[in-house]
Amino acid sequence: MTAATHVAPPEVVAPLAVPLHPARAFFRQRLGLVGAAMLGFAFFVAIAAPLLAPYDPYASVRPTILDIYQPPSAEHLLGTDDGGKDVLSSLMYGARVSLLVGFTAAFIALLIGASVGLVAGYVAGRVGGALMRVTDFFLVIPDLALMIVIVAIVGPSLTNIILVIGVLGWTSTARLVRSQTLSVKERKFVFRARAVGASGLHIMRRHILPLVLPLMLANTVLVISVAVLEESTLAFIGLGDPTVISWGQMLNFAFTRGAVSAGAWWALLPPGLAIVWVVLGTTLVGTALEEALNPRLRRHHLEAEPRLHLLEELRGGEPLPEPPSLAPQPAEGSPPVLRVSGLTISYDSAGGPLRAVDNVSFDLHRGETLGLVGESGCGKTTTALALLRLLPPGGTIERGQVVLDGVDILALPQNELRAVRWTRMSIVFQGAMNALNPVKTVASQVAEAIRLHEPEVGRRGADDRARQLLERVGISARRANHHPHTYSGGMRQRAMIALALACRPDVIIADEPTTALDVMIQAQILELLADLGREFGMGTIIVTHDLGVIAQVCDRVAVMYGGSLVEEAGVQQLFADPQHPYTRLLLSSVPDVGHPDRRLRAIPGTPPRLEQMPAGCQFAPRCPLVFERCWTERPPAYNLDRRRAACFLVEPQARATDG
Ligand code: SF4
Repeated sequence: MTAATHVAPPEVVAPLAVPLHPARAFFRQRLGLVGAAMLGFAFFVAIAAPLLAPYDPYASVRPTILDIYQPPSAEHLLGTDDGGKDVLSSLMYGARVSLLVGFTAAFIALLIGASVGLVAGYVAGRVGGALMRVTDFFLVIPDLALMIVIVAIVGPSLTNIILVIGVLGWTSTARLVRSQTLSVKERKFVFRARAVGASGLHIMRRHILPLVLPLMLANTVLVISVAVLEESTLAFIGLGDPTVISWGQMLNFAFTRGAVSAGAWWALLPPGLAIVWVVLGTTLVGTALEEALNPRLRRHHLEAEPRLHLLEELRGGEPLPEPPSLAPQPAEGSPPVLRVSGLTISYDSAGGPLRAVDNVSFDLHRGETLGLVGESGCGKTTTALALLRLLPPGGTIERGQVVLDGVDILALPQNELRAVRWTRMSIVFQGAMNALNPVKTVASQVAEAIRLHEPEVGRRGADDRARQLLERVGISARRANHHPHTYSGGMRQRAMIALALACRPDVIIADEPTTALDVMIQAQILELLADLGREFGMGTIIVTHDLGVIAQVCDRVAVMYGGSLVEEAGVQQLFADPQHPYTRLLLSSVPDVGHPDRRLRAIPGTPPRLEQMPAGCQFAPRCPLVFERCWTERPPAYNLDRRRAACFLVEPQARATDG
């Protein structure tokens, strides 16, 4: 069976739901359109005021007693104010000032708040803490009181009012953006972007900002409303720019110049309603924008998903591939593409560093698939992440070497490390849905990795290669520009594999690549990984707790327990003749379809906790063959015939092999 037949794309014949462009998604929302129409009308009136207004409110007039507070009439549709001026004309001109103040101040607040929030959330540490202390300081100061003081000092010009409202209005945006950034930066796709080699600025701009944007827009709507209201308040208490007419100014004149006692409601109601009009319009637009910009909120795009998912799973029902017993073995004596020696990793804790990985060593050759297997918490994922120096905060590589084609990854400076990640060694993270950015199309995420490392390829070249890679892993070109949430679990995992292949690495690490997938899709994904490894001449490391995965695609197996590598052997060697007691128990806990009557055995006890690691052999508390020496001395990895095991019981064999 050829590679192509193994990974035939699961073609979908049913019509698919195509994710809408945000603009089209916005135009589908009626309330958003109503809000846009309300704002559009306000803007139109503001811009066209000189043409539409029946009178010029800035023209000096000498009113007579008969002109003041005239009720609405054919001559003055909204009556006149205390100066005998046409209220409708003032309202139209006032829209210019109120909208200008509201939107400009909100824009300033957005710029400051978003920058502070993004940096404080992403950088965290001292810089982030200091930025948030400044934010808290501004947050606890009453805005309005401070505005009144500042405007009174600097003077109530329009520019000063805009700056004061904008500069004091950023704190709520900063706090919201920071909390959202803190949450988003922990997501797998950000982790993946770091692994790809993206800089902090790039990650903030391209990966975090799009997810934070809906929240920012919603908050900006609030800030616009608040800015319009604050300008009105300042103007109402006499701190508005006396040279311009705003809605707040109109209210101020009406209240202070006897409109209430004169019963001139027409001088009060129109500016008040105009403020409500703009606030309501911005709120409706903001809500609709948030929904349009966040594809995960667009439920109608998800409606076709179950059918698509079902189809893909059904069409993926190929027979299980042959066991990899005929997989090409690395040439005798050929140098490994990756050599890991003495890798030792610890995590910070309140009681001091705790060792999570202890003296792990293994080789990986081109075209070889190595399975890293063990129970949860045995250190296999930590080992895999350390190969790319992607340990989570608190993780430290104490010592060891990770030599990739002669280059020690652990000794590289950060800029050189970024160049190595993804171009020489890449990773398929656990949980494909979380490792893909939900607001970017799948093809664009693959192309992004290519452009980051090979800018000379250009946008078109990167897009073309992204599509080719997606097709190679079984995703048709017409699905390439869809968002991750429109993909089924199997397709997302295929997309992650395409992403890992983007820069044609020498080594690919797949961390639990088939978790949460059903058996048929698991088989396809595993076969795809093995085929690609051979096709591209890559070394592949598959991290898994599933011995079935190991049996299906791996050439060699490294068994981990309690942070140590306890046995390493060829797959057939290990399954036929396990040497370490832990490996034997692990194999006896797996169902054997050839012997359905065989009783499964659970391994007694639980894996050791990092803070309670035994002084001797880590497996001693659970080992049925434990003896005195095991409690005090840690067994080294004994070299046997083309395999290794860390158990005192194989010591005589090791001597015999050496001899
Ligand atoms: S060294 Fe001792 S405790 Fe450890 S696996 Fe071997 S026999 Fe069991």
